[in-house]
Amino acid sequence: MHHRFRVTSALLLCALTVLPLAAQRPIKVFISVDMEGIGGVVTAEQLSPSGFEYAKFREYMTAEVLAAIAGAREAGATEFVVADAHGNMQNLLIDRFPAGVTIIRGSPRPLMMMEGIDSTFSAAMFIGYHSATTNSQGVRAHTISSATFSAVKLNGVAMSESAINATIAGHFGVPVVMVSGDEQAVGEVQKMLGTVEGAIVKRSISFHAAAVMTPESSQALIRAKAKAAIFRVKDFRPTTATGPFRLELSYKSYTPAEMMAYMPGVERVDSHTVRFSARSIIDISRFIEFATSYRADLTP
Ligand SMILES: [Zn+2]
Repeated sequence: MHHRFRVTSALLLCALTVLPLAAQRPIKVFISVDMEGIGGVVTAEQLSPSGFEYAKFREYMTAEVLAAIAGAREAGATEFVVADAHGNMQNLLIDRFPAGVTIIRGSPRPLMMMEGIDSTFSAAMFIGYHSATTNSQGVRAHTISSATFSAVKLNGVAMSESAINATIAGHFGVPVVMVSGDEQAVGEVQKMLGTVEGAIVKRSISFHAAAVMTPESSQALIRAKAKAAIFRVKDFRPTTATGPFRLELSYKSYTPAEMMAYMPGVERVDSHTVRFSARSIIDISRFIEFATSYRADLTP
């Protein structure tokens, strides 16, 4: 009993000395960056290395992340990990970033667009995001792969990339605090998560058209919203979605659905859809990455 008392008081003393330190925990920000929602982007000409404007839009994509970092820094954030999360995952111009920023690039990776996140972060931001494949209005609206999937559902609900990624962030106890993109992408996130800060850098007209602002204006808006989000970082709560999760992937073709269902644990729901269940969103993420990236002729 006496011994136990000593342990308890030692723990208490420990807690009292650690508490002020914990309150000063550095504000670490995780930034996941896609490209379809970058200011000015409307077609594949800006989105892939074969497009005539791609080189220019890598600059704008990089500048928007730098704007988010600058804004977050003004509000007290000190550490940043940036996940390049579009196409070949090697779009960001890494020499433009200040020392100390870590950039996640290349693929495959188990946490997809959220690789690099863990429980030490105070906030997550989505820059250059687009709306879900089920959204009929958004510029370049798709989920994971526009060429591959007509729908991606989690527990029966059609998912956007932002919804999946907010769930991954929630797994680590990290709240999403800010999103940039067209009004559809921002609207989807705010509908799901409440009053996260939203930088609307374009108004969608159709899948391949939008009313856009100048790059400088997009960057200024993102900087202001990132700053506002970190100023009130304590207002945000992580998503609390917990497993088990039931993932349904609806392919645009028959054959991938047929072959995926050869694997034990993967169920064919209908001609184009397979179902996979897992306890953790991390396993769901790994499954999606496998489903989108595996090829028998992968090398090395
Ligand atoms: Zn995307």
